[in-house]
Amino acid sequence: MRKAFFFLLLFILLIANLSTKKSNQLLNIRYYAYPDYTRVVLDLSASMKVQEKLLPGQNLTRLYFDLPDCDFSGAYPEINKKEILIKSGNLKRIRLGQRQKHDLRVVFDFDKIGKYDKFYLSSPFRVVFDIFQDDINHIDRSVLAQPDRVDSTPEQIEGQYSMVRQLGLGVHRIVIDPGHGGKDPGTFNRSLKLYEKTITLDLARRLKSIFKKNSKYEIILTRERDRYISLEERTAIANSKKSDLFVSIHVNSAPRKTTRGIETYYLNLTTDPWSMSVAAQENAISKKSIGEMETIVKQIVKNAKESESRILSQFIQKHVVKQLKSKYSKITNLGVKKAPFYVLIGARMPASLVETSFLSNMYEAKRLKTSFYRYLIANGLYYGIISYIKSLGKN
Ligand SMILES: [Zn+2]
Repeated sequence: MRKAFFFLLLFILLIANLSTKKSNQLLNIRYYAYPDYTRVVLDLSASMKVQEKLLPGQNLTRLYFDLPDCDFSGAYPEINKKEILIKSGNLKRIRLGQRQKHDLRVVFDFDKIGKYDKFYLSSPFRVVFDIFQDDINHIDRSVLAQPDRVDSTPEQIEGQYSMVRQLGLGVHRIVIDPGHGGKDPGTFNRSLKLYEKTITLDLARRLKSIFKKNSKYEIILTRERDRYISLEERTAIANSKKSDLFVSIHVNSAPRKTTRGIETYYLNLTTDPWSMSVAAQENAISKKSIGEMETIVKQIVKNAKESESRILSQFIQKHVVKQLKSKYSKITNLGVKKAPFYVLIGARMPASLVETSFLSNMYEAKRLKTSFYRYLIANGLYYGIISYIKSLGKN
């Protein structure tokens, strides 16, 4: 009898345990806070749609939403379980609490809110909020670009002035993003002991010093040394600095060792298998996940300055190739392409990602090892960016 009771108790406990086990888990909340802009990233174990609501108050405005059937994961930092205080910026704190035993409620308390954007990234699933204190500067710039023909060259832009051009927005500040860093080495060439993260940092530094010597523009690097920065933080830096341009520098790699050349990307969807594989590699996700991004990216591209980003990419591509061709043989121009790169998503300014050469190709890897080749790439990036700025006719 006693034994039967014991088993019954065990059974009840088991059922109770099963019913409280949630199917989704909140893995982490990361935030990047600046004086008038904050980016919040929620890392989740599964994809879900978030329906947020805004509740204006006298002193604080609340933005809140529920994560359905969700609990904290074991890895979620204990210290952040109830509330995260943010010491700078317009987002003051994030509060978390279980709601109706199943859902996890997330509340953002704002001092002042101008505009916010929300989008999703996958592998792991992420919900990203971009929250701005004011809406003037950012809103104007976000709706400017109008899609136009994809096949035009920088020389053809005369006749198809975008809104950025019509409104005469000039360039003052440029954020240069040396790809990878720290625990993320990027691609590498084993026999030459060359890492992408080292080359991109060197190229960015060279580019910065060329700008310093020859122009009045303010250049900000997303990293000045060998340190890790998430893909989300890189764009957050550009947004927070109200940068006018964003250029992410990378080195390519391919399974076929003969593949070589230079290519420049801007943000959009693609059906081209090669572009998809480059984006998957740079996003550190599978090709399958890239395919799943379609609906996500469709929504984001509306906000991106596609037309200007494409023109910027064309100028960069043209000048990097031109510089290298002036001193080297067999420079392959792979052209300007589009793909869903995480690092470009959410950028509020024209943005490009340039794959400067292939570390997987021995000829290009050996060239990449030399100071002169890097100098020419940096020069090409400089002339590309300057030509783009000049094409705006305002600087
Ligand atoms: Zn890379």
